[in-house]
Parts: sequence; C-alpha cells; structure tokens
Amino acid sequence: MTQRKRALITGITGQDGSLLAEFLLEKSYEVHGLVRWDSVDTTQRIKKRSGSYQNLYLHFADMNDAQTITRLIKETRPDEIYNLAALTHVQVSFETPAAALETNALGTQYVLEAVRLLDMENDVRIYQASSSEMFGSIPAPQNEASPFAPCSPYAIAKLTAYWMARMYRDAYGLHVSNGILFNHESPVRGEDFVTRKITKAVAAIEAGQQDVLALGNLESVRDWGHARDYIEGIWLMLQQDAPDDYVLATGKAHSVREFTERAFAHIGVKLVWEGEGINEIGKDAKTGKVLVKVDPALFRPKDVNYLLGDAAKAQEKLGWSPRISFDDLVSEMVNADREALRSGEEPWQMAG
Ligand code: GDP
Repeated sequence: MTQRKRALITGITGQDGSLLAEFLLEKSYEVHGLVRWDSVDTTQRIKKRSGSYQNLYLHFADMNDAQTITRLIKETRPDEIYNLAALTHVQVSFETPAAALETNALGTQYVLEAVRLLDMENDVRIYQASSSEMFGSIPAPQNEASPFAPCSPYAIAKLTAYWMARMYRDAYGLHVSNGILFNHESPVRGEDFVTRKITKAVAAIEAGQQDVLALGNLESVRDWGHARDYIEGIWLMLQQDAPDDYVLATGKAHSVREFTERAFAHIGVKLVWEGEGINEIGKDAKTGKVLVKVDPALFRPKDVNYLLGDAAKAQEKLGWSPRISFDDLVSEMVNADREALRSGEEPWQMAG
C-alpha cells in the first residue's frame, strides 16, 4: 500500500484553506493545518466542513512565530506545504501595513527558511499563494510575463513573498511554485469582499431584513472565478515534476456594477442607475425603491481598477481551465445566502 500523502496548510481557516482541506481529504491526504489562536473559535469553519474526516489535524501557530512554524514542519514532515496564510483584505492592509508585511512577506520567508534549515529541500513541495493584486496598475490582460506595479501594502507584501519563493527556488533548489490567482469567490468567501457583501445584502433585501446596499468603486473590474476551480489548479501545480509560476484566471472581466446587477437579477429585480459618482444610486426599476448607494468611505486610498488574467500557461502545462461560469457563481452565492437566512446557518456550515 502506498503511504498517505501529508499536506500542511497555513491559513486553513480561510475560504481557500477550508476548500483545499476538503479537496485533499477527499484525495485521502493526511491534512495538517496551522491555526492562529483567537478569542473566538476560528476553527469552527474547518471543523464543521471537514468534521467527518479522520485525517485532519489542527495546530496552533502564528505566521510571525518562526520557531513554531519550523517545529511544526519538523514534526509533521509534510510532502506538500500550501502557504495560504495572509492578511488578505486589501483595504485593511492600508490600515495595518506593517502587519501585512509581517504576515504575508516575513511569514512566507519563515516557511521557506524552515524547509532549508530542516534539510527538507528535496522532500517537500511548496505552494505560495501569490495574487493578481501584484499586477496592480499594469494594463490587462496580465499573465506570468507581465511586470508588476502593486498598489497596496497587501500587494507589496505578496510581491515580496513571490520573489522570496523564486529566490529560494533558484538559489536553493526548493520545489516552490507561485500561484498568481485572480479573484476567486464562493459562498464561503469572507463577508468583507465585495462579491459576498453583495450576495449577502441581496438575500437580506429580498427577505426584508436590509434596506440598502452601500458600495464604493462601482467601476472597478475584476476577473472573478469560482474558488472550487482554483483549488484544483493549486493542487495541480504541486503535482508537476518541476516547480513554476502560474496565473489562474477566467479571462473574463466584470465590473462591481455588473456583479451587483447580476445578483439582483437573480432575485428578479432589475436595477436602474441614476446620478453620478458618489451621488449615484441604484433603484428597483419596478418599484423605484433605492437599493444601492455609493459610500465614499468605501473607496480605497489607491485602487486597482482593472484586473483580467490570461491563464494560457496553466491551460497548456497543467491542463487547467475554469468550469464554473460567472452567472453560475453569482447564482450559487445568492442562493447560499438565501438559504443561510432561511436556516440560520452560515454557508460554511452547509454541505457542498
Ligand atoms: P480585491 O480585488 O482583493 O481587493 O477584492 P475586493 O472584493 O475586496 O474588492 C474588489 C473591488 O471592489 C475593489 O476594486 C474595491 O474597491 C471594489 N469595491 C467597491 N465597493 C466595495 C465594497 O463595499 N467592499 C469591498 N471589499 N470592495 C468594494
């Protein structure tokens, strides 16, 4: 019998971490996850979704604690490390830039250096969660050959980690791959991200529990895919003989405005827009009720206005392409938030 593969996931409590854990457990991996202690139980999400699996182990650690990270890598001796832990919210990173650097950049360096210190260079493959935000203001479409022009502390920290991973690969021969993922969403996306904020509000407005959805930059364009598709791409990167860097994206662009229109359309509401800039409002075409307004507080000090990825390399080398369409993504998210309101359970508590 071949031995069960062992994976270590940092950031296992997040959207991607919890979906990846489920994916790997389904593939009969033994999965270890690093969890930061908090006064609220952040492990609920992962325990609830993966509770029926026996091969899941959670360990308290912190990306700013190099010793503990090294010890856990030593103790768990993973075949694959997925480094997903990060301060992931772009707007929050403007408030806490040093924390973004510490967790996203230095934390990655601790993982890479631990592998070297433990002489595990030839024993472990590493996935580094890089981000399309690193492209920042570079004209679209962006791919692996595009230059970088990060626009936020988050993106600058991620870019540092990206280069650190490449340096460890080139200098020390580590099998480390950067996944440059464009925005990827799901019903378990954090509520601070614009997609989930919209779908949650649409469900609440339909149920009569919320009046208006407040948004910032409606013109911002993103390449939104479904996280489930991207998890498979992440895994495929580590199944390759040689490490490399890959963009994962759908190649389709939609604005925040379009996402909002699509989400309301799913509950049978056609939005019409009136006014301009911060005075713009979105109304129900039938009733005239104001459902969307613009809040200047939700604009970022510097925003990335247009991200659209070209994932041709991933398609060619990994055989990866996204399967779930934009419309299906929006519908699934709105339906999950409707169901959450009906059942009183969060989407991560539900199956599927
Ligand atoms: P990001 O691409 O990782 O920053 O993902 P987000 O979902 O946080 O933001 C995507 C885009 O939506 C950004 O350009 C935001 O400026 C824009 N946006 C507009 N209104 C909002 C809002 O209310 N919340 C968030 N998070 N983003 C908003």
